Amino acid sequence: MIEFANVTKQYAGHGASSHSALRDVSLTVAKGELVYLAGPSGAGKSTLLKLIAAMERPSAGTVTVNGTDIGRLKHAGIPFLRRNLGLIFQQQRLLTDRSVLANVMMPMLVTGLPRAQSEDRARAALDKVGLLDRAAAHPLALSGGEQQRVSIARAIVNRPQIILADEPTANLDRASATKVFDALRAFNKVGVTCLISTHDEHVLDSATRVIHLRQGMLQDGVPAAPAQEVA
Ligand code: ADP
Ligand code: ADP
Repeated sequence: MIEFANVTKQYAGHGASSHSALRDVSLTVAKGELVYLAGPSGAGKSTLLKLIAAMERPSAGTVTVNGTDIGRLKHAGIPFLRRNLGLIFQQQRLLTDRSVLANVMMPMLVTGLPRAQSEDRARAALDKVGLLDRAAAHPLALSGGEQQRVSIARAIVNRPQIILADEPTANLDRASATKVFDALRAFNKVGVTCLISTHDEHVLDSATRVIHLRQGMLQDGVPAAPAQEVA
């Protein structure tokens, strides 16, 4: 479903002395897998996820998603790719000028689904993340963990085959983080392929598959050394 073949990513403006964000990464993620990305800050986790979503293009190598070579994807093909992706990234905060329900309805209204049907599906998605009772609330009235679960509801409402989540529990307490991971796992159980970057040791300890990155390179099953924070 997702394949990286010798992928290197060097950002423009990245100093010549600095390493590539990703270096010669090859990996395969099968349909229905739940895969965690681990590694210290700056290891390349976000870059790996962005390459799958065509938010960045590889400098070398190929990224294939459902048989499509992302590096060769024309601009017009990006919406088709993204329709199959549920994205949970820090940058995509909830809109604060509308209710929780309206936030979750947005992706469906964009695709032209009728309002009543969008609302039904948004409520069903909120129910799945345990927040149906907060549908009418203002996003900022929710805790950080609840907001993140609303982001998950918004990401899955178009029934994507793949969920990409970039550190979805950053800044959350343990109880909230557990609920966020439970919500993601529940979607994986019904067949959604999930790639989740995280520093959460609890989750990584019990994970069936963890991809470890360090300075842009795969660590091949070897747990990363203690995090060396990059400012
Ligand atoms: P992680 O998600 O593991 O923290 P990133 O993928 O965000 O790692 O970053 C990997 C490397 O690429 C870092 O050295 C980072 O500074 C660099 N980087 C990330 N985004 C950009 C960008 N837009 N421009 C230049 N360098 C970037
Ligand atoms: P409905 O039929 O009213 O849309 P469902 O219970 O089938 O309700 O789905 C609940 C929500 O979960 C929907 O918004 C749906 O988009 C979302 N969802 C995303 N991916 C899946 C999946 N693979 N299986 C079931 N529901 C999914």
